[in-house]
Amino acid sequence: MKAIVSLNSGSSSIKFSLFTLDAEGTLHLSAGGKIERIGIAPSLRARSSDGKTILERDWPGGAALSHADLLRDLFAWATDHPLEGQEVVAIGHRVVHGGTEYAAPRRVDAPLLDKLEALCPLAPLHQPHNLAAIRAIAALAPDLLQVACFDTAFHHDKPAVASRLALPRAFHDQGIRRYGFHGLSYEYIARRLGEIDPALAAGRVIAAHLGNGASLCAMRAGKSVDTTMGFTALDGLMMGTRCGSIDPGVVLHLQTQLGMSATEVETLFYRESGLLGVSGISSDMRTLTASAAPQAAEAIDLFTWRAAREVAALTASLGGLDALVFTAGIGENSAEVRSRICARLDWLGVTIDEIANAGDALRIGMPDSPVAVHVIPTDEERMIALHTLHVLEGTL
Ligand code: AMP
Repeated sequence: MKAIVSLNSGSSSIKFSLFTLDAEGTLHLSAGGKIERIGIAPSLRARSSDGKTILERDWPGGAALSHADLLRDLFAWATDHPLEGQEVVAIGHRVVHGGTEYAAPRRVDAPLLDKLEALCPLAPLHQPHNLAAIRAIAALAPDLLQVACFDTAFHHDKPAVASRLALPRAFHDQGIRRYGFHGLSYEYIARRLGEIDPALAAGRVIAAHLGNGASLCAMRAGKSVDTTMGFTALDGLMMGTRCGSIDPGVVLHLQTQLGMSATEVETLFYRESGLLGVSGISSDMRTLTASAAPQAAEAIDLFTWRAAREVAALTASLGGLDALVFTAGIGENSAEVRSRICARLDWLGVTIDEIANAGDALRIGMPDSPVAVHVIPTDEERMIALHTLHVLEGTL
């Protein structure tokens, strides 16, 4: 049976999923796993789709192992343990940045890799890891089809007004513009909503991807028209360790008055701010919602206030709102955060049924709520596999 692997290679982890392709061309999740704590003490866990552990490995002294080293080990294991009757025919990768050029997934070849390499300065914390995984696989299996699936692609055709920063034109022309991210997640949500409620999906929808990274996307008829992330994945909402939108004057002050270097500011904004910075306790929403500390409450309050404020802003971009969809780690699992965001949007017609919200319901809006409210689990790995399949079909 043919199989497709999805790879999501981040700064300290590599997530992977294996999908098999049945005779009707439908993808079925067969196994999935994660290498975590890369750069510290990497460990690997993989499970089959029925939850059985199929591989566990630790590299206790492996702080120096790179993404490529670990992928080589994983590849060697997979070659020694062929999954019964499954033949990997392609690997799809999440690639954070497709720049101004790529509005759709692409088959990887040397010229594409060079172009994606040139985009590394636009996503220095993510893009190099994405490309390292592609290069590692290309060295191990040069004939295997690899497909790059871009997080920016879903937002590529949003209106010009939602793409421009208020800077002199020359900066826009050299690529300093609002791109938007989490596109694979939003594309999946748009598809799922289309299956669940086609009429709603054809309308004005805001999807809230609230995880460690967090953003909102305003969609009309399943297409992105605005989003809270911009030039980088630092913009917009408050996140686990990222500050989100911030007065640019703060950056100037930190550098000119406090003498902070660009690297120090980068570390502050990407790794030390957000829920972690405000609470001083954790970047993890589960820990904060379980904490009695006033600083934890303050961090959650700021997170929900910012999210509600941005929902209102994107409602203006859409000219109204028909549905709000929550997804990702916090959006799917925290009834408290959903409830607090919706309470601030009551005036907009977002009213939720607290009993449905506290349970596992997909629809959590009150039956007479002018705005429908849904919780839909995202699946970026499946979206990558679907794109990879389409590129594969195009090459057969
Ligand atoms: P993600 O980046 O999508 O994996 O989301 C990670 C975030 O989801 C972390 O802040 C987790 O604490 C949060 N999260 C996961 N499960 C829960 C839960 N049951 N309640 C609150 N937050 C959760």
